[in-house]
Amino acid sequence: GFVTTPLADLSPADLAAFLETQRAAYEALKGRGLKLDLTRGKPSAEQLDLADRLLTLPTSTRDADGVDVRNYGGLTGIRQIREMFADLLWVEPSQVVAGGNSSLSIMHDCLVHLLLHGAQESPRAWAAEEKITFVCPVPGYDRHFTMLASHGIEMVTVDMHEDGPDVEAVARLVKDDPSVKGMWIVPTYANPSGSVISQEKAAALASMDTAAPDFRIFWDNAYAFHHLTEDEAKSADIITLCSAAGHPNRPLMFASTSKITYAGSGVAFLAASEANVAWYTGHEQFASIGPDKVNQLRHVEFFGSAQGVRDHMAKHRAILAPKFAAVDTALSTELAGLGIADWSKPTGGYFVNLDVLDGTATRVVALAKEAGIVLTPAGASYPYGKDEHDRNIRLAPSFPTLGEVETAMAGVATCVALAAAESLAA
Ligand code: PLP
Repeated sequence: GFVTTPLADLSPADLAAFLETQRAAYEALKGRGLKLDLTRGKPSAEQLDLADRLLTLPTSTRDADGVDVRNYGGLTGIRQIREMFADLLWVEPSQVVAGGNSSLSIMHDCLVHLLLHGAQESPRAWAAEEKITFVCPVPGYDRHFTMLASHGIEMVTVDMHEDGPDVEAVARLVKDDPSVKGMWIVPTYANPSGSVISQEKAAALASMDTAAPDFRIFWDNAYAFHHLTEDEAKSADIITLCSAAGHPNRPLMFASTSKITYAGSGVAFLAASEANVAWYTGHEQFASIGPDKVNQLRHVEFFGSAQGVRDHMAKHRAILAPKFAAVDTALSTELAGLGIADWSKPTGGYFVNLDVLDGTATRVVALAKEAGIVLTPAGASYPYGKDEHDRNIRLAPSFPTLGEVETAMAGVATCVALAAAESLAA
């Protein structure tokens, strides 16, 4: 773009000229017959290749305790992988359960156990309450919201900022209303904002007064180790903070190797107080005789140590960082100074959060689709898919190749500019 004045300040004639330029650029874009997809935060094949030594592991059928990993048993997972990830998550091994491949499934299990049985401090099962409400920082992870919606759990939103959610808003919501039983948080490199919760905000969530005695923080640390720069964010230690504040059972932490090794065949973890671990396994014992210990052992052999996990993440970073840089470059080149878009410059995680001119996100996604670029539906990062400002778009640059990211994002920038010009000229 040649124009660097805020679009809203252009004269009608200049705006009309800008609109014509963008229309022409968009027609040219459509003419290219692209077929690109920026919708899902999936690792690329190149990233998955990094873990292919897993296919030759484990070399042993026994773990360090001599347990035959091929057989049944061991509901909390093998000791070595619990120790490895306890180290990475700054908790004690006794506070970690290593499960199957999906942390989302563990979150769902926890939620269902809470609904059917309640927690240690619950007066009754959550499902026996008239109403259950969760606090949801927005924009947030769509699958958190759809999971809650599928169980009829109400959602109230608070704003997500660069240093975490609006904790004063959270404190107000939880203080007097006992139906508010929980909240979601992606503390580190959040989906989609990329924000990292500050120590102060984590401490505020740990110590706030809640009307519900069994309030739970679903602390989804899916991107704890997924740095894009050398400035590696350190996750707030919510378990210690809550324990120190007298609410040891408040947090349930989740993590997995889905975006470390294989997205469909990693190892997922629950970390929480020992009482919560006992609560969880107390219910899980009726659902499973034990997790896939062969997979756990091959992950132990693959990484070797906690440091092995960190070293492996550096290889992901080398692949991912240029793609995120390409997103920023494309958006800056086309849109800087126009006053029609803001976007995150994440230092980790899998997403870029793009806020376009209010009222145009749906139009941008439709324009992109017609030009062969599939974006996540506008509003997907809000409960019920409803972004009242119609301005938020989640970009996921990990899966396409670098060249595809460059091409797709230049196209997205054109769609953003065209939709804004249409809206302002109308
Ligand atoms: N939590 C967040 C915030 C995610 O973004 C994702 C995947 O995109 C998941 C959880 C899924 O985790 P898992 O693969 O361990 O089920």
